[in-house]
Amino acid sequence: MERLEQLAALGDRIGYSPEEDAAHELAAGWMRQAGLDVSVDAARNLIGRVPGGSRRVWTGSHLDTVPRAGRFDGTLGVVAGLEAVERLGLPGLGVVVFRDEERGCAGSRGCVELPDAYVELHIEQGPTLLRSDAPLGVVTSIVGYVRGRKTFEGTAGHAGTTPMAGREDALVAAAEYVLRAREIASAIEGAVATVGQVTVEPGGTNVIPGRVVLSVDARAPDAERLDALAAALEIEEPVRTEPSPMAEDVRLALRDAVAAVGAPVLELPSGAGHDAGILATAGVPSGMLFVRSLNGGISHNPAELSSEDDIALATDALERTLRALVLNQH
Ligand SMILES: [Zn+2]
Repeated sequence: MERLEQLAALGDRIGYSPEEDAAHELAAGWMRQAGLDVSVDAARNLIGRVPGGSRRVWTGSHLDTVPRAGRFDGTLGVVAGLEAVERLGLPGLGVVVFRDEERGCAGSRGCVELPDAYVELHIEQGPTLLRSDAPLGVVTSIVGYVRGRKTFEGTAGHAGTTPMAGREDALVAAAEYVLRAREIASAIEGAVATVGQVTVEPGGTNVIPGRVVLSVDARAPDAERLDALAAALEIEEPVRTEPSPMAEDVRLALRDAVAAVGAPVLELPSGAGHDAGILATAGVPSGMLFVRSLNGGISHNPAELSSEDDIALATDALERTLRALVLNQH
């Protein structure tokens, strides 16, 4: 908790800024205190390792933040990961701090050396564990997403002289689509869809909207559901990122560890992207352990919160998972 406090005192830390550099320097100092071999790679990711060992099992996360961030996103995975690696001291274990995660995972995408397995502990950033009364959760997959737009053409006209009957109001059609998108996503388990931007043309208070462009963000836990969701939403010019399933052996080690620390074993998909998804896509068997988010699950907000008890439990579960993975017991 003191280390989280020290990181929070550095303020906002955008990727590759002097503030992120300062956070990495702090973490490098803790790694040296823990007796780890410290190195920095070409993407300026920071890695602390226990020397030796034939099987490289890494944990970690990121220390960059969004503007006006909370104090747990990323930092918790680094601080708890370092604690677990220091306690175990087993050859082959490492803790990695990836650069610039929030703006698109530049660090993990640029990571050249890949471990044999990767486990990331992270605050959930949502309300699922809170609502299920579970302190910990094992991530099944990191959702894929399709982003694009949907355009509605109507006929612009005088707001006063055009009768209601026969109007071609593009915004009315777009409004119906927003409601339909909610129904479509609600009907697919684990799927979400969001319209976040509305552009209305010509945009006059006394003009019937002639053209409306909506932004659409659609996410689902696996490729099949993402296909169904994207097709039903008729997204134009879709840009797609595939879902990243977590590795079964890492999930098994996590489930065993969660049960061993006496917590209920709950599995859930991650609606947010993470470095673990980048590593999974690169072929590294990866897994994630979520820690309950309090305050309704709020994240990317200073009100983001996890309890000391939940963090202690998560660190114990991470330690057990890393031990099993590095000794190759799964
Ligand atoms: Zn994060």
